[in-house]
Amino acid sequence: MKITAVEPIVLRLGKVDTSRADGTQDAFVVRVQTDEGLVGIGEADTSPHVARTIVEMPSSHAVARGLAELLVGQDPLRVGELWERMFRGSYHYGRAGAALHTMSAIDIALWDIAGQAAGASVADLLGGRRHDAMAVYASEVMPDSPERVREIASRAVADGYRALKLGWGPLGGSIERDVELIAAARDELGPDRTLMVDAGMGYTVKRAVQLLRELEPYDIYWLEEPLLADDYDGYRRLSDAVPVRIAAGEADSGLGPYRALVELGHLDVLQPDLARCGGFTVARQIAELAAARGVEVVPHCFSTGILVAASLQFTAAMSGATFSEFSVASSPLVNGLLTAPFALDEEGRVAVPDGPGLGVTLDDAAVERLRYR
Ligand SMILES: [Mg+2]
Repeated sequence: MKITAVEPIVLRLGKVDTSRADGTQDAFVVRVQTDEGLVGIGEADTSPHVARTIVEMPSSHAVARGLAELLVGQDPLRVGELWERMFRGSYHYGRAGAALHTMSAIDIALWDIAGQAAGASVADLLGGRRHDAMAVYASEVMPDSPERVREIASRAVADGYRALKLGWGPLGGSIERDVELIAAARDELGPDRTLMVDAGMGYTVKRAVQLLRELEPYDIYWLEEPLLADDYDGYRRLSDAVPVRIAAGEADSGLGPYRALVELGHLDVLQPDLARCGGFTVARQIAELAAARGVEVVPHCFSTGILVAASLQFTAAMSGATFSEFSVASSPLVNGLLTAPFALDEEGRVAVPDGPGLGVTLDDAAVERLRYR
């Protein structure tokens, strides 16, 4: 089998509000085509226009290649070798950031093809599924008022979620305000549901310690990304000072930063985003690292249904999986891109697709409707 085309697709809503840290306003999808008719799909959670260029661009020299040029004519089943080919071919402009994000989209699509070729789901290829359904937490941007927090939390409860995360928005501006918002969420969720807080890099170590002291009555499962992604010294000081789990890693790519977050940052929860970290090829290395160090891995997932499917396939095969993230942002890019939407079961879980590959199908009409040219 040979790759015949790598098609980059930019999707974008008509209006984008750049004051919101809401990545569901645009999206980057790839279709990898083969000469045997199999088509793999993947996505990158990145700047879609940069990703499109990284796929389409003509090469500059041996270690500044366009990714489509590198892949067309290659055997899509040699996934690990192709990952290295892309990594080395993008070395001068890559090694992290948008290049790794774009590689993630292609890696997801290659695993999708590998699953289709084998007649097995990606979870099966990753070592076998341990779960047919995964517990998910609902995830939404933190609104500005306790009243709006209550609306979101009560809707999550009514919809059957057992866990909710709120993050970014006003968090980090005032500790008193943050506590008020988080207390409203806990009150609405009741004592038995799980509540996570995403601080959106809005804190210093000492302010985060103070916040967590004041949040003690509200039973926070984790505090996410209070500091900048590579402030390993800060993460270590914070993690060592508080009993609450500290989570981070959504901004990282490649195995190295995750090793640093565990070894230097003393983190409790790693949050690789399959559409940023380097795809399944890197995420499985992170899962092995985490299993060896006894830390939790909960993939970051705040984009389209392709990433939901990838995150479910990944967690389904993972030892000690606890949750997968599930965006409840009201964007057609989140819930309108697949032919069949994901649904919660009565235990607050989402079924892991069991068809070949990712087990999901793009709604081509929706793709064309949302396509940005
Ligand atoms: Mg986050």
